[in-house]
Amino acid sequence: MSSETMKPTPRPGILDIAAYVPGKEHAPGVARVFKLSSNETPMGPSPKAVDAFKQSAGHLEIYPDGQAMALREAIAEVHGLNKANILCGNGSDELLGLLCHVYLGAGDEGIITEHGFLVYKIQIMGAGATPVVVKEKDCVIDVDAILAAVTEKTKIVFLANPGNPTGTYVPVSEIRRLHAGLPGNVILVLDAAYAEYVKRNDYQAGIELVSGSRNVVMTRTFSKVYGLAALRVGWAYAPLEIIDALDRVRGPFNMNAPAQAAGAAAVRDQDFVAMAVEHNLVWVEKVTTALTALGLKVTPSVANFVLIHFPDVDGKRAAEADDFLTSRGYILRAVRGYGFANSLRMTIGSEEANRGVIEALTEFLGRS
Ligand SMILES: *Cc1c(COP(=O)(O)O)cnc(C)c1O
Repeated sequence: MSSETMKPTPRPGILDIAAYVPGKEHAPGVARVFKLSSNETPMGPSPKAVDAFKQSAGHLEIYPDGQAMALREAIAEVHGLNKANILCGNGSDELLGLLCHVYLGAGDEGIITEHGFLVYKIQIMGAGATPVVVKEKDCVIDVDAILAAVTEKTKIVFLANPGNPTGTYVPVSEIRRLHAGLPGNVILVLDAAYAEYVKRNDYQAGIELVSGSRNVVMTRTFSKVYGLAALRVGWAYAPLEIIDALDRVRGPFNMNAPAQAAGAAAVRDQDFVAMAVEHNLVWVEKVTTALTALGLKVTPSVANFVLIHFPDVDGKRAAEADDFLTSRGYILRAVRGYGFANSLRMTIGSEEANRGVIEALTEFLGRS
């Protein structure tokens, strides 16, 4: 072939990946916009995190600490963990990708669930492996279905607990049963992005399970309750052998210095977290009750968002509701890509935003 007809070609499978589509940000022509499409907190970050971020601006010529030592120490202290078992990343998304690139290759399978977070599928395919999608039961992860899907090719299982966009959770007894049924060479990833919001006695984010195993990884993020989505701060808690493998492949300075500084200050401000969680608990319930009273079906959520299902009557489908809400400045998330053709996901916002959505949906549904 001549050099003109030759071109670089991505590995097989890469061009089959559907790129991630983030939540909408804009409502054209609307003066006041409430972005409730990406599960960001209405509280913003802790003022202490903002101070730390600003201070780090004085040293931008210096490479960040490649070990993210201060951040890992802060996380370890607050959560009572060994810092050697913590790896920080440029958002937990980076860590999910690293896990795939280190443990998956062509011919391997990664299990994800029907309404699972789309990043898992993208990263499994990015590593050249095959995503195997397992049904959920009425928006809840089905442990038996996952176990039934395991083959000798399975190398990883991804679970978000609580789930996104469902907001449902699986009790620790079920996670333990799943772990007990998996072969020891399969990594069980527990993505606990919304763990801080869950106030249920039978829920655990995964710390205990990681501590007692060689094949469980818990991932966490500062993008949600900590309000640092813009900075990209995530961490994984994992057995030392897994940390060691990921450490070899990651970028040597994968977390920037302002993110490390802000993250360390944020995690030490647990009073701020408690305040944000309290606001959420109150408003998840109020929003769920109000929307249910309007005749909408709302999946019971333990996270900072609710999944709203629209009835198929009168042509008032989710897409129309989405347009109507957007025209009023309330931006929710369409979730077709997650297997919900007629539903919207709403992040719990400020009191004003929540009341506004309820009012707007009341008007939308009242129209004939
Ligand atoms: C928001 C979210 C994350 C966080 O990703 P970051 O890269 O840390 O911002 C991870 N998993 C799920 C399921 C999420 O919804």
